[in-house]
Formats: sequence, structure tokens, C-alpha cells
Amino acid sequence: MKLICLGSGSSGNCYILDGGAEALIVEAGVSFLEVKKALDFNIRKIAGVVVSHSHRDHSGYAGEYERAGIPVWRPYETGDQRRMCGRFLIFQFELVHDVPCCGFYIAHPEMGSLVYASDTEYIKYRFHHPTHILVEANYSADLIDPAAVNRDHVLTGHMSLQTTLDFLAANNSPELMNVVLCHLSQDNADPDPFREAAKKVVSCPVHIAEPGLMVELRKEPF
Ligand SMILES: [Zn+2]
Repeated sequence: MKLICLGSGSSGNCYILDGGAEALIVEAGVSFLEVKKALDFNIRKIAGVVVSHSHRDHSGYAGEYERAGIPVWRPYETGDQRRMCGRFLIFQFELVHDVPCCGFYIAHPEMGSLVYASDTEYIKYRFHHPTHILVEANYSADLIDPAAVNRDHVLTGHMSLQTTLDFLAANNSPELMNVVLCHLSQDNADPDPFREAAKKVVSCPVHIAEPGLMVELRKEPF
């Protein structure tokens, strides 16, 4: 299973879990055309799209998929707990944002499990030995200019690096194969120190989500 990042952050979020025969789209914040290109126009393999919340950078292009007949799951509207898309089994869990927002626990026979959480102040839950974690590390308190007018907006509904590190420490296990930090703020985050800080709390590779990132999500270490 390959994780492909097409966008991460307030300009648009979209991740593809591409299993070769079938793919799941996580977040519809990048145009359908970009997704088609990334999949070599093989859109028949898209098993579904999951959207975490109504903000445009996550949901803006959902209608394009629906017009193409591809199912879009918005559990923050429907309230249902789980869904099967092809062989992807997806559970939603509640996050803490300024609008109803959910994270996803996604299991697939070729990937193991992936916990995805973005746009949240913190994560209430602890997971049983996830194989991969894709989690927001939005800002570092040290990097925020106290005089900045958008300070409150930055802090509300997003996860600080320290909160992310606490979450990673609580969910670390020998089974954890990859951590991907996502939704880094343009002004209040610094990719290299963020990666180094995360590497200190987990014993697996740590990646930073940016357009073009591709990570092989294996179930086993070999
Ligand atoms: Zn949001």
C-alpha cells in the first residue's frame, strides 16, 4: 500500500491510499483532476472518499467525486460509525475542532492499520498498536509571534507539536512502522525540527506530509 500526499495544510488536504487494485481517498481538498493524474487516470480503482469535516480545505472538491459516481463518506454529517470501502474498513472517531470533525482508523489486509487525525486540539483516544499514524502537528508555541493577530485562530482547533508528541508516545509500539506529520502551519511550524522531535518519541521513520510525498505502508517490517 502506498500513501501519496497531494496536499497538506490550509491550502488543501488530500491523501491517497493506493493498494494497486483499489484506492481510498482521504480528504477532498485537492481537485479531482490532481487525484486522477496521481492514479494515471485509473479512477475505477477508487473505492471511496472519506472527508473529516466541512472546511473547504478538506471537503471542497467532494462534489466532483459524487458527480463521477464515487461514494463520499461524511460521518460528521451522518453520525454513522463505520464503513467498508472495497477492502478498506474505516471507523470514525470524534475530534475537537471548531466544527464537527472526525478522525479515521483505517484497516486494510495489505496495510495493517492507519490512524488519521487532523484539525483537532487533541485526540481523546488511544489506539491498539496502529501500524501507521498520519497526524497533525500544526504549530509550535515557540514559533508563534504573540503579537500576531491570528494567534487565537491558530491555536483554536489545531494540535501543537507537544500535543502531537504526547499522542505519539502514548501510541508507540513495536508494530508502528511509519509516522507522517501533516497539516503543518505555513508560519508557525518548522519541518526539520518537528521531524527530529517526533523521532525521539517513536522508533520508526517519521515523514513530513507535503505534495509529492510517497510512503510505502507495509504491514510487516520486511
Ligand atoms: Zn478545519
